[in-house]
Amino acid sequence: MTMVTTRPRTLIIGAGISGPVTAMFLQRAGWEVAVYEARDRVEMDEGAFLNLAPNGVNVLKLLGIDIEREADGFPASGLTFFNTSGKELGAIDSRDDEARFGARSVVLKRANLHRALHAAAAVAGVPFHFGKRLTGIEQRPDRVVATFADGTTAAGDVLIGCDGIHSRTRHLILPRAPKPVYTGIVDCGAFVTPAPPVPPTPAMRMVFGDNAFVGYLARPDGEVYWFCNVAWAKEPARGELDAISSADWKHRLSGLLAGEADPILRIVATTTGEIGKWPIYDIPSLPTWHQGRVCLIGDAAHATSPHVGQGASTALEDAAELARCLRDISTPTQAFVAFERIRKDRVEKLVARARRTGSQKAVTNPVQAWFRDRLLGLFLRFGKRSNDWIYAYRVPWNEPVTG
Ligand SMILES: Cc1cc2nc3c(=O)[nH]c(=O)nc-3n(C[C@H](O)[C@H](O)[C@H](O)COP(=O)(O)OP(=O)(O)OC[C@H]3O[C@@H](n4cnc5c(N)ncnc54)[C@H](O)[C@@H]3O)c2cc1C
Repeated sequence: MTMVTTRPRTLIIGAGISGPVTAMFLQRAGWEVAVYEARDRVEMDEGAFLNLAPNGVNVLKLLGIDIEREADGFPASGLTFFNTSGKELGAIDSRDDEARFGARSVVLKRANLHRALHAAAAVAGVPFHFGKRLTGIEQRPDRVVATFADGTTAAGDVLIGCDGIHSRTRHLILPRAPKPVYTGIVDCGAFVTPAPPVPPTPAMRMVFGDNAFVGYLARPDGEVYWFCNVAWAKEPARGELDAISSADWKHRLSGLLAGEADPILRIVATTTGEIGKWPIYDIPSLPTWHQGRVCLIGDAAHATSPHVGQGASTALEDAAELARCLRDISTPTQAFVAFERIRKDRVEKLVARARRTGSQKAVTNPVQAWFRDRLLGLFLRFGKRSNDWIYAYRVPWNEPVTG
């Protein structure tokens, strides 16, 4: 007689950054997986760029993914900071990251990152269902049932909410949990090619402008990637930013950046493609990340503002760590408890750090700016090792979860 065993099944909600990676790790842990994404495949080709730090790159290495190659990325060798008149204030040199942390930071177009993660997951046999917007969750004693906006349903043993900062999963399992907090900043950014020549440095140039914080960097082929943080006191209403055309936004930026040193204005002026605009939120702390058969990870659990460039990397760490807990602990609820215990302190420390960094970018008081201009270089020089705990972190995938 042959014994038929069924593998436990996970419903993964969201195919952004953590969703496909959670699916790949869980598959390795012996689970059956399926990913449900609200958007269609083409809509996922949107977004600007992000910096994936060594800790995030190392998670993907565990899956055999060389993300720099697969997603057409390029390394950033550090950050150089300037004030509004173009004076260099200090620098973070990351050229030894590979030797120190086992990986270097990679700059990636978000669309390429999505494509690369989806392709790797598809090769691993992960099924994706696009156009499936989660609307409801029903928890039964023996399973969890997800309902989607198109009226279809799916059942599994557990459901993982990888559905980002405005997570529907979070709303459904923790309706009274704190909502994402708007940070008073709108981020915008785009790509320019052909671009005005920018200094040929492989470090990203970050400028504390009079009215905005700007970052830009040229790829080795000359295409320029840029972003700009703009103070925007009132939380934008739904659709408000989308209603502003790129031409109008450029006009607005030209006013804000009029006093900045070359080539910032020329970079913005020569941008011909769509300029993306994103209100920035974070979630300082949730009382818990799980309920019954459902668990949240990534931005759904602990969204961070992008000022320390860790949101994607911590979402990837979560993906591996949660799969490790579900692999080694026999009941999902206990696995979720262990996952939260292992992860919460680290990610909440990062959310708080990003919040503080964001508020320093928005310095408009001349006295504070005077001190910043004199102290930033010293702070960066002597504080270099203070980020080691962020980048050196490794998910111990090959070790069993204990305790
Ligand atoms: C402007 C900006 C710049 C950033 N720059 C950086 C950076 O340089 N470095 C860095 O590490 N991080 C950066 N981040 C943060 C990073 O993008 C996030 O932390 C990361 O994307 C989180 O991954 P995730 O998988 O949790 O969520 P996401 O990547 O947001 O994925 C969520 C997915 O869920 C889907 N979804 C939503 N609702 C539903 C639903 N009801 N049903 C089904 N699917 C649903 C969404 O369509 C989406 O595809 C930046 C963020 C912003 C806004």
